[in-house]
Parts: sequence; structure tokens; C-alpha cells
Amino acid sequence: MRSFARALPVVAPLLFTSALLAQTPVSQAKPADTEVWTPVPAIVTPGRTNADPPSDAVILIDGKNLDQWVTAKDGSPARWTVSNGVVTVNKPSGDIRTKRSFGNYQLHVEWRVPESITGSDQARGNSGVYLAAVNDGGYELQVLDSYNNKTYVNGQAGSIYKQFPPLVNAMRKPGEWQVYDVVWTAPTFKADGSLNTPAYVTAIHNGVLVQNHVALKGDTKYIGQPEYKAHGPAPILLQAHGDPSPPISFRNMWLRELPR
Ligand code: MG
Repeated sequence: MRSFARALPVVAPLLFTSALLAQTPVSQAKPADTEVWTPVPAIVTPGRTNADPPSDAVILIDGKNLDQWVTAKDGSPARWTVSNGVVTVNKPSGDIRTKRSFGNYQLHVEWRVPESITGSDQARGNSGVYLAAVNDGGYELQVLDSYNNKTYVNGQAGSIYKQFPPLVNAMRKPGEWQVYDVVWTAPTFKADGSLNTPAYVTAIHNGVLVQNHVALKGDTKYIGQPEYKAHGPAPILLQAHGDPSPPISFRNMWLRELPR
């Protein structure tokens, strides 16, 4: 301390001079040096509200038909119920999946647990959005009645099933519409089939962040550890869960494909 104080009269002018020198190049820099003008982002006309599909969306459920869907187990026409703009799970006919396959995307989907819901734990309004349906399963974003319904936290609504609990429980009451907005980044694989980059999920439930760019550990396993098996673009699947509680409904489902 004392030696620094003694040296100060010598050091101070040096510090001042070197600060001036360091600033010289910056004074010659122009605002335009850091402006980027191309490529110009494509114009997308947004919906009337954030729930309405923007102009570049692929419409998956418009409430009029199930033309974009097939029965997952055999590829036959999807046989869930379409009524009053709403699609309701038909449990005996099983899961449905999109005809088309997708890589990376932004997804919007609305779902409703009926007011008449019964059951508890995993047997209460269970369904799911498989963000990529692969290997006789896929990567499940859980759908469940998690309004006053205790279950394992990595199996409640908004969880990546058996991997990541939601950051918070943003559930509305049964009878009210729930909204998921999801960003899915598909995993990539090397030529030998091993994992190159994991899948990433960001999910927002009713406007509340519940998954923040989580790196998935593999596809969803009911029993055992998740694992990756190489795959390409894949359909999206909606789950018809075998529990005896009344079926849930979906509406207004659309996505925007994103570059890989
Ligand atoms: Mg489920």
C-alpha cells in the first residue's frame, strides 16, 4: 500500500496516457460497422391474438376434421370425436399421430380436462403430446389434471415425463382451457447412429415458463432410463391413456416449422 502510494505520481500519468491510446481506435469506429442488413427476415403475418395461427403455420387441429391425423397403431383414419370445434380423445381407438413428420418447430396446442373429471394421481385426465413419435414411443410432454392432484412431480402436467418436472404448476381448473406453447429442437445423430446433439424443449403453460431449454436424456420410458435411438423427422402423437377417467379434449393446434 505504502509503496503504491509512493509510486502514484509516476504511475498516474502513464495510466492516463494508455487509456487515451486504447480509446483512439474506438473513436474511429462508426455505428454502421455493426449494422447487419441482410438477409432480411421473412414477413410472417401474426394471428389476431397470440393463440391464432400466424400466416406460416401448419394447422393440425382446426376443430372441423381430423384430416391431418391417423390412428397411431395401424395408420387407419383417426377416430377421435370432432364436435363444436373441439377434438375429444376416443380411448378405445388409441393414440393418434400426424400424417406429416416434422423436425424443429414451434407448437401451439390447447387442451381441456372435463369438469366431470374423476380419479387421482396419473389416472385423472392423463394424455400427452409426444413431440416426436419414434421407436414405439417418443418424447412426451405430459398432459394431466394437475389442479389439486398429487402425483410424482416428473409426471405432472408440464413435465417432460419421467425426466423434468415443470418449473411451476400453472394449471387452470378442470373445465377451463389450458395452453401449451412449445419450442422443440430435434436431436441430431452421427452417421454411426450415436447422439450428436440432444433434443431441447422449451415449454410455456398458460403463459408461464415451465421448461427452459432442457436437454432431454432420451425418449420417454415408463420403466427404466431414457435413451436415444437415431431417428429423423417424426410425427407428433396425442396420447389416448388407458385410465378410466373421462376423456380430455384438444383444440386450436398448429405449428411453425423451424430451420434445422
Ligand atoms: Mg401421459
